[in-house]
Amino acid sequence: MRILLVEDDPVLIDGLTYTLNQSGYDVTFAITGAYAESIMLAKDFDLIILDLGLPDMDGSKILSRLRMRNSSIPVLILTARDALFDKTENLKKGADDYMIKPFDLRELEIRVHALLRRSYGNYSKEIICGRLSIDILDHHVLADGKSLPLFSREYGVLESLMLQAGRVVSKDKIAQRLSAGSEELGDNAIEVYVHRLRKRIQPYGVRIRTLRGMGYLLEPYEG
Ligand code: CA
Repeated sequence: MRILLVEDDPVLIDGLTYTLNQSGYDVTFAITGAYAESIMLAKDFDLIILDLGLPDMDGSKILSRLRMRNSSIPVLILTARDALFDKTENLKKGADDYMIKPFDLRELEIRVHALLRRSYGNYSKEIICGRLSIDILDHHVLADGKSLPLFSREYGVLESLMLQAGRVVSKDKIAQRLSAGSEELGDNAIEVYVHRLRKRIQPYGVRIRTLRGMGYLLEPYEG
């Protein structure tokens, strides 16, 4: 899931990017409206988080123009202004939800999740590799169509690798995805999770290759 974060406050960019990365979202940020609009044309996103007070324009302009182009991408507005006027105006312009600063990062994450769920309806956001599939909204893993329960860290490793299937994912990247901000995860810990996960998924035509000094790569294989 790709999220475009249009925000000019560096502290918020850091906090939001970190929190959303932890949940497995891929975050691109833009600190000006002009950059946001150019990157929107070049790349596909699943959701936009949009601050209204941008250095070069009012964020609601971006929203209006987006809806004028008939884009139905979900937009979550961030605003420091708590005026009722803003809220109704922006919902009229086509915002799907809004949050007033300061807000709780955890709550934002829940709202993002809900918007994506609504936007994709009953269709799951599935990634498939071999006979394994994961739903990155529900964090649910299926192996040969049956539920494969994993511990949350094993799931985290699997998701990091599935999102980049066929490409090398560094240990650092996996550690970032797994550590909940409180503790640092050493290389050894990552190796343990990878080892356990490898054993769980190998029977389903998926293997994890170790590329010494580089990281891990997930790929389907005929077993
Ligand atoms: Ca701002």
